[in-house]
Amino acid sequence: MLENLSPQSPDALLALIKMYAADERTDKIDLGVGVYRTGQGDTPVFEAVKQAEQKLVDTQSSKAYLGPEGDMGFVEALMPYIFGDDPTDGGRITGMQTPGGTGAVRLAVALAKAAGAERVHMGVPSWPNHAQILNDVGVETVTFSHATDVGTADLDAVLDVIKAAGPKEAVLLHGSCHNPTGIDYSDEYWDAIADAFASSGTFPIIDAAYQGLGHGMEEDALGMRKVLAAVPQAFVCYSCDKNFGVYRDRVGAFYAKAEDAEQLATVFSNANALARASWSMPPDHGAATVRLILDDPAMTQVWLDELETMRERLRLVRKTLADAGTAGGVDLRPIGQQNGLFAILPVTPEQVKALREDHAIYMAGSGRINVAGLTMNNIGKFIDALAAVTG
Ligand code: PLP
Repeated sequence: MLENLSPQSPDALLALIKMYAADERTDKIDLGVGVYRTGQGDTPVFEAVKQAEQKLVDTQSSKAYLGPEGDMGFVEALMPYIFGDDPTDGGRITGMQTPGGTGAVRLAVALAKAAGAERVHMGVPSWPNHAQILNDVGVETVTFSHATDVGTADLDAVLDVIKAAGPKEAVLLHGSCHNPTGIDYSDEYWDAIADAFASSGTFPIIDAAYQGLGHGMEEDALGMRKVLAAVPQAFVCYSCDKNFGVYRDRVGAFYAKAEDAEQLATVFSNANALARASWSMPPDHGAATVRLILDDPAMTQVWLDELETMRERLRLVRKTLADAGTAGGVDLRPIGQQNGLFAILPVTPEQVKALREDHAIYMAGSGRINVAGLTMNNIGKFIDALAAVTG
């Protein structure tokens, strides 16, 4: 039966990683892959993670199966950071561990479908895997515009969609540090979004993959908390892979808010069944490591300090780009107002190709750059090359 399969095009970003690795030019710049890099271009293991992993090796007494919900100590330790002072909202919010934020998004979409969601609305551009997951799970996807031409969030577009959708439809939003645009909703925009969810009954699914990389752990959660406070039911998909730098350990969690404890239990009996039939149980090591960090105030502080260093470096790169004003035909100033790892440059596929071939600068075909790929040593070269290619 294998002759029935047709070849699928390889993931464009993974193909880019291979091309970058094969490029022998010593001044090459990788702005493609979505991981944080230090000013020296490395993606090191966090010191807090090293400490917690050592403790895990020393103290872990068993690797016996846990269950589809994974490490509930990990799931609960994260909740005050995500949901604030009353993290369970009076017993109406709980969660389970998932293989990365990807597993959480997949579970959220599959559960929404099982609960009767007729379609899911998604702002575009978005993380490309959102569309792939929605398609693979088999829900109808409807897109709307995430951003305006001037590099701000398109509030009218999202409000129109939420107000028109209603209780049989879900809207998928990014919690903070939007991938790929870096364009987040302001506090006032989140107020309006929360009101729209409350009045329409439309179901919110919030994907929070970058908490702490924008303005701070608290600041990056405020929008999401406004929505959760306004609605009786919602899903949150969470990734620790960026804010703890544990990408390959696949550390994520899925949370739901329901109307009461009984409904919440039913949601999670379904979530457990779906997880059991797909990955059975999530990988333990990274989640146990995050739990040990969050259970220990000294290690928590080491982690928060490391996260702040990351955030400050991202801000510095953004400010340096914005201060340059323009590069050829590209206005770099909006990048200073945006958040997280990513920004989209208004460049054509031909210009992306010229940057790669003539200047050894690698970025996604969409014009998305990972600003953490820039350092104080290569940012000048990048701005000059961008000017040469777009001028
Ligand atoms: N959601 C968004 C918006 C992302 O950008 C990513 C990763 O790039 C994820 C989810 C998934 O993260 P993870 O690597 O934890 O699966």
